Amino acid sequence: MEVLVINCGSSSLKFQLINSDSEKVLAKGLCERIGIDGSSITYQSDNCPKFTKGIDMPTHNEAISAVIGALTDKDTGVISDMDEVKAVGHRVVHGGEFFKESAVVTEDVIEKIKQCNYLAPLHNPANIIGIKACMKIMKNTPNVVVFDTAFHQTMPEEAYLYAIPRKYYDENKIRRYGFHGTSHSFVSKRVAEIMDKPYDKLKTIVCHLGNGASICAVENGKSVDTSMGLTPLAGVMMGTRSGDIDPGIIEVIAKNEGKDISEITNMLNKKSGIAGLSEVSSDFRDITKAIEEGNEKAKVALQAYVRTVVRFIGAYVAVMNGVDDIVFTAGVGENNSLVREAVCNSLGYLGIKLDTEANKKRGEEVMISTPDSKVKVYVVPTNEELAIARETVNLLK
Ligand code: ADP
Repeated sequence: MEVLVINCGSSSLKFQLINSDSEKVLAKGLCERIGIDGSSITYQSDNCPKFTKGIDMPTHNEAISAVIGALTDKDTGVISDMDEVKAVGHRVVHGGEFFKESAVVTEDVIEKIKQCNYLAPLHNPANIIGIKACMKIMKNTPNVVVFDTAFHQTMPEEAYLYAIPRKYYDENKIRRYGFHGTSHSFVSKRVAEIMDKPYDKLKTIVCHLGNGASICAVENGKSVDTSMGLTPLAGVMMGTRSGDIDPGIIEVIAKNEGKDISEITNMLNKKSGIAGLSEVSSDFRDITKAIEEGNEKAKVALQAYVRTVVRFIGAYVAVMNGVDDIVFTAGVGENNSLVREAVCNSLGYLGIKLDTEANKKRGEEVMISTPDSKVKVYVVPTNEELAIARETVNLLK
């Protein structure tokens, strides 16, 4: 059946139409600048090369209408009628403690997502707008929500509680939630298949290294620890996010520069990470190029990045009291052999032996450790849209 997968931001809406039987992407695209002047849709399908067209989209309703228009258009379309779309799967960032798994949308579900708005103020309200737009325009099509946080709801208390006064958890649910759950779940399941081992008997560490990055310890098919926290700012160093820092830094900078908390949080989210440290770029392709050209700051920034990844891997080996396999995924994890090599070279103590030839591959499923490596290392491309489509179908069965 045809499933429409939607990832809705405050001014953007990404979509893919997936056939859940063949798991083929029939069409995909992006609406941008919703509610802003100059909004447009970018679209591509098998029978239509990528194009961008300006369409007025004052709200997400017009964006959904534009998507429907492109999908059913006699020239660009891949379906003749929207009734052929049997379900819509929505990515939702924060499910708080309400959602331990995906859910079919009801008024109650929307209300609970709303109650998590304070935990993801930039994302959840936009996700709700997308859901409501679909409910309005595709009246008879069921909607399913798939949460970034749900996979991590299996973490034990000692993994998710912060060492701050207990009342902050009891009263406001301030705790570690973790993100990228759809990706960690998809990739850890897939690697068990590749290894031909039961998913519920493996100790896997997934390194989701994209612009945003997080590491997850998956034990016996369950997330038991992860590097992101209450927000996606925590954990390993990222493209523009600092990852873990000494919280004391915030007051020192605030006093030195006369800045308020939101200015500093903005700096930690948007001007830090590998971009802030290297003063080159948040894009790892630029970093690699700068290193080749002899840029010292880029070299040190990459070394610091690798160290944060290595630290988390070491911590999660300790947490699980062992590890069977380590998996790299997302933009950097799938494509940057330099990062993978540097990480693996620091893990010799685990008996990891890198296959340097295999590690040259990009963007494909491959084992990058040698056959006699004690811990196996893989690259597995993530596919969050496909994971959402699968969840959607499963829930509606
Ligand atoms: P996001 O978190 O935005 O989804 P991605 O998973 O797309 O991020 O990762 C973006 C990062 O992946 C960038 O730093 C980029 O350099 C890196 N990347 C993406 N494609 C390639 C490639 N073909 N070669 C090297 N690096 C790549």
